[in-house]
Amino acid sequence: MSPQWMNNLPDEAQNQSLPIHRTPATKTLTAIITSEDLLATFTHYYRGRTTPCEKPDCEPCRNGMPYRYHAYVSAWSPRSQLHFIFECTAQAAENLVAHRDKYKTLRGCQIEAYRWGKKQNGRVVLHTTPSGVAPSDLPLPPDLVKCLSVLWNIPLPQLDPTAVRKRSPAIVVQPADPLPANGRDRP
Ligand SMILES: [Zn+2]
Repeated sequence: MSPQWMNNLPDEAQNQSLPIHRTPATKTLTAIITSEDLLATFTHYYRGRTTPCEKPDCEPCRNGMPYRYHAYVSAWSPRSQLHFIFECTAQAAENLVAHRDKYKTLRGCQIEAYRWGKKQNGRVVLHTTPSGVAPSDLPLPPDLVKCLSVLWNIPLPQLDPTAVRKRSPAIVVQPADPLPANGRDRP
């Protein structure tokens, strides 16, 4: 017997996701967005973790848990070379939507995010500006639906053909419509 050397990642690495980063309390998060658009869904904070709302058949909803809008983009830090998923609320995502509508894409948009008052739950201030980095110099964006499904442990047909889950996750790409103010005026 001899070792099986390989030049690629193990098979299970194919189904791994990128880590989720939120705006830190005391530092400024700086990165360049790699996805063309944001991906958003309603989520609950339920049993100690963020989980997507799966209305109309949603356990947190049945238990009266509030839901919030969360937006996600993939982002890359030139300094750390780390590719990750940035999560923000509707209020912070307004600037992402404005940037997308102005430049027709979010890819290449530099974000600087920090919290007002440097408090853990302080309002997120998000600045967007074109980074000037050529799109070809940025990492390719991941499949955000797939990444979030892996993180949230939601089987997708292409990830796990044997999964017998009731339906696909309630993740939708938001059109250019105005964002809900607080996530409660859900249609
Ligand atoms: Zn729900």
